[in-house]
Amino acid sequence: MLAVLFLIVFGKSIAAFAIVMLRGFPVRTALTVSASLAQIGEFSFILVALGVSLGMLPPEGRDLVLAGAILSITLNPLVFAAIEPIMGWIKARPALAARLERASADELVNAGAVEAGLKDHAIIVGYGRVGEVIGEQLKAQGLDFVVIEEDRRRLEELRRQGLNAIYGDAAAVGVLDAAGVANAKILIVAIPPGMLKRRIIELAREANPAIQTAVRTHRASELAYLKSQGVGFAIMGTREVALGLLGFALTSMGYSDKRAQAVVQEARLSGDGAAFDRELLEATPELREHKEPDGPT
Ligand code: AMP
Repeated sequence: MLAVLFLIVFGKSIAAFAIVMLRGFPVRTALTVSASLAQIGEFSFILVALGVSLGMLPPEGRDLVLAGAILSITLNPLVFAAIEPIMGWIKARPALAARLERASADELVNAGAVEAGLKDHAIIVGYGRVGEVIGEQLKAQGLDFVVIEEDRRRLEELRRQGLNAIYGDAAAVGVLDAAGVANAKILIVAIPPGMLKRRIIELAREANPAIQTAVRTHRASELAYLKSQGVGFAIMGTREVALGLLGFALTSMGYSDKRAQAVVQEARLSGDGAAFDRELLEATPELREHKEPDGPT
């Protein structure tokens, strides 16, 4: 029974990991695909039933597959929970990480930003749907920024576009340094949920206690934590979508742009899961003045 379970959980996963890595995807993607395949389900029941009816499989085989399915499905959440610890283990071994990502150690920690002598620049961690919007606008404004991106394919694309991009997990030793964190003005953490935001902020502050921080977040609990850590600005993606829609609705209903923006900003800074912006809260008490129901202006 243990052998069957071992084959399902490890055999399938190792094969999936190897295939995904050979196709050139990042280690995290390969681990996620492996974890999702570390179980068997209904298709195996059809196959064993067919096998038994054709006399190709003894009835004990069916029992083993059934037990293997129940156990592997039960264990699957644990397999998923192991992804982050395995990633941490790999990242703590740069030689292994470089080999798996098929990159050279030099590429893994690139000293480009420091060599360029950048100062007072922004660092954008994660250049996906969120980070890219920020980077494009900074670029249009002629402001200096460095990207940290852990997806090697994405990184190559960014370098082709001429961006100053550092390869690696921003939470890994040396990566923020390579982005010139000690001389940077602001760190913008634009990565998805469940990633290592707290660690990234801690590391950045160790290297540069005066650095300003702005964080994309997805949970009210995380927002509360970031607030307690004195992060400058943090917002929840879903809430910002709602506020964008609210702003449009208010102007459609006759509010001036200025007044609609004031209402939106007040909503942004209040209530459950509110974004916070320390400087703005202190500097703009007038945001509170727009509560009186004196009709649209
Ligand atoms: P999106 O969710 O589309 O905004 O994409 C997020 C981006 O952040 C992806 O391109 C990821 O590869 C990248 N990313 C996620 N975690 C990290 C990290 N710890 N360090 C650097 N880049 C990251």
